[in-house]
Amino acid sequence: MSIRVLVWNEFRHEKNKPAVQAIYPDGIHQVIAKFLREAGFDVKTATLDEPEHGLTEAALSETDVLIWWGHTAHNEVDDAIVERVQERVLRGMGLIVLHSGHVSKIFRRLMGTTCNLKWRDIGEKERLWIVNPSHPIAAGLGEFIEIPQAEMYGEHFDIPEPDSLVMVSWFEGGEVFRSACCYHRGMGKVFYFRPGHETYPIYHQVEIQQVITNGVRWAAPRQPVTVTFGNVPEMRT
Ligand code: ZN
Repeated sequence: MSIRVLVWNEFRHEKNKPAVQAIYPDGIHQVIAKFLREAGFDVKTATLDEPEHGLTEAALSETDVLIWWGHTAHNEVDDAIVERVQERVLRGMGLIVLHSGHVSKIFRRLMGTTCNLKWRDIGEKERLWIVNPSHPIAAGLGEFIEIPQAEMYGEHFDIPEPDSLVMVSWFEGGEVFRSACCYHRGMGKVFYFRPGHETYPIYHQVEIQQVITNGVRWAAPRQPVTVTFGNVPEMRT
């Protein structure tokens, strides 16, 4: 059975900023959904303004990997929905958090830190160096990925030490950044991937699509898991 992916986007900039609309006329989520479908996944989309943000119990129960893009409306995401997503991650759903999702409620909750960073948006070149070439997320990539124009994110990035660090970004202006970070939370896997500022065509870039595709394969649950918690009888046999 195909991996079931739900691509979630707050979907605001594409409606109110012509420069963003020109790059993502149907929304960032549709571009991501398209290349993931072409990779063979079973893909659906959801956006902030849908009832329950499109993240109903039913939708999440049919999701193996949730992808999250948000920027301007993190505070409009209902806390009860954030809790629901967290619960699903702890029970095994994969979560991929993109770019400005670093300060989304769900990512901060799963990390337990502020997830703050430095930033600057003057269209600098970014080079993402692969520092863990045998990691599944680096499959099919070369030594580095270059993005001609990007928003800079700089250290210090206030995250817990990643379980695996796959890429470190260098920016033309001098900063570096841990830009592909993997975590395990409960039975779920979490992948933070930095690129994706809305005014640059970054999700149209084939290497970036490859990383997100690899991320879906890595984050998908391997098999159904049943665990028992609480008081249990002793096992003296
Ligand atoms: Zn940005």
